[in-house]
Amino acid sequence: MSETTEHIECLIVGSGPAGYTAAIYAARADMKPVMYAGMQPGGQLTITTDVENYPGFPDGVMGPEMMEMFRKQAERFGTDIRYGMITKVDFSGKPPYRLQVDEKHDILAETVIIATGASAKWLGIPSETKLNGRGVSACAVCDGFFFRGKDVAIVGAGDTACEEASYLAKICSKVYMLVRRDEFRASKPMQQRVLNTPNIEVLFDTETDEILGEDKVTGVRVKNRKTGATREIDIQGFFVAIGHQPNTEVFKPFITMDETGYIQTIPGTSKTNIEGVFACGDAQDKVYRQAVTAAGSGCMAALDAERYMAAKQTF
Ligand code: NDP
Repeated sequence: MSETTEHIECLIVGSGPAGYTAAIYAARADMKPVMYAGMQPGGQLTITTDVENYPGFPDGVMGPEMMEMFRKQAERFGTDIRYGMITKVDFSGKPPYRLQVDEKHDILAETVIIATGASAKWLGIPSETKLNGRGVSACAVCDGFFFRGKDVAIVGAGDTACEEASYLAKICSKVYMLVRRDEFRASKPMQQRVLNTPNIEVLFDTETDEILGEDKVTGVRVKNRKTGATREIDIQGFFVAIGHQPNTEVFKPFITMDETGYIQTIPGTSKTNIEGVFACGDAQDKVYRQAVTAAGSGCMAALDAERYMAAKQTF
């Protein structure tokens, strides 16, 4: 570890809606936050197109543009935003905690706000990448509206896929649900909801061979895993709902998480099991996962950090 180590009051890890909101509040509270923006500054919203459900934007806003506005607002109050990844943490003992940036230099932080988000899992086929944002989406709540009155497909068989299929069924004329095994993974009530919805057709034992279309999605070629038979279905939207992976690996040795890596916070707060370490956004939320809920929890984390420091009065 390096010899010259910076000592700061508030470190924010991650730069999605949660991280930027935490930064705005922490900076305005004079905590002089330093933010490490991570591999994909701006987070998941930078890979979406129109955002129409974030309050305050009556005409909608493009995801990347919105994150740019978040960034400017955080900078306006003095947040020190840096490129880089936190590659190692040591939350043993009492604060300040030592964290390593890009395996190069160290930083000592009195408080740490984890806002590293989550990443959608993708199928990993080339047509999915090619048509991402052109009919391929990993968020039905964000993008379903664009397929109003159209036919869509959704892949996945867990609670998220069932919830999103039900959501899409209210907007779209027809929803094909592509389930790779001969059964769901979702809870029974969620399955029932799907099976009882007339405009959802569940195709079991079905995998995605290729998403069809040049500039936008026009169909999907699916394959029956038992018979090997392929079939093309006309659709305009293709939704992937095969789970998310929270970006929390680096904190695992110290922070209490559930079995899938979501950070557990004390209910009603952003506090983790470690004193002075707070978590917000999708890194700790597998249920709501919206920009607006992430931003709200970022605000909570900054307020919790500020109150924690005020109670200590040592920095
Ligand atoms: P899950 O991990 O539960 O389910 C993922 C689903 O995607 C599985 O059905 C899996 O299939 C399928 N899948 C994975 N990879 C592929 C692939 N390459 N091709 C096709 N299908 C694939 O993730 P969820 O996001 O659904 O849920 C995560 C957690 O959040 C769960 O604990 C869930 O209960 C919870 N949750 C709760 C909600 C609620 O209570 N309202 C709402 C949403 C989530 P297979 O079954 O064959 O492995």
